[in-house]
Amino acid sequence: MAVRPVVIWPDDRLRQPSVPIAQVDDSVRALYQDLVDSMYAENGLGIAALQLGDPRRMFIVEPKLAGRPETDPPVAFLNPELVEASEEQQDSEEGCLSFPEIYIKVKRPMRCKVRAMGLDGQPFEVEGERLLARCLLHELDHLTGKLLVDFVGPLKRQMIKKRLTRQKAADGDGDEAEA
Ligand code: ZN
Repeated sequence: MAVRPVVIWPDDRLRQPSVPIAQVDDSVRALYQDLVDSMYAENGLGIAALQLGDPRRMFIVEPKLAGRPETDPPVAFLNPELVEASEEQQDSEEGCLSFPEIYIKVKRPMRCKVRAMGLDGQPFEVEGERLLARCLLHELDHLTGKLLVDFVGPLKRQMIKKRLTRQKAADGDGDEAEA
């Protein structure tokens, strides 16, 4: 149970293939808790295990967004797959914990349905529209190594790379000054 640093692009760990989870054991439950702690520490709506550098096929979504009571724990999606996506699209700005302070316009289906295994080992389905659909599709993208920068052209991608690399260097200097 710990807040772990979120992997920031361009880090190759965000592109590694995700590995299916065979069964829910203590190490999967520990990963879930780290995801919860790290997501809340960063005020995220969702986070994928790859963003903590862990290749297991899993993401979580903030409970209220997922249609659960606010006081519920975040919803865990293990081995999730896309069942349906609407032809109707939505187009708005999207952020990602692996791209701090970067927002990119992404066109996505308005509605989608995702099937996954829960922490209880049972299959379940979630249907979402608008922001929930966007969040589910974003997290599913993470599990196939697809990232926000894959939605922009090479010039903008280069700009984002420069900005995040600079930010990382600045953060490094800060740590040294504090130490
Ligand atoms: Zn993301």
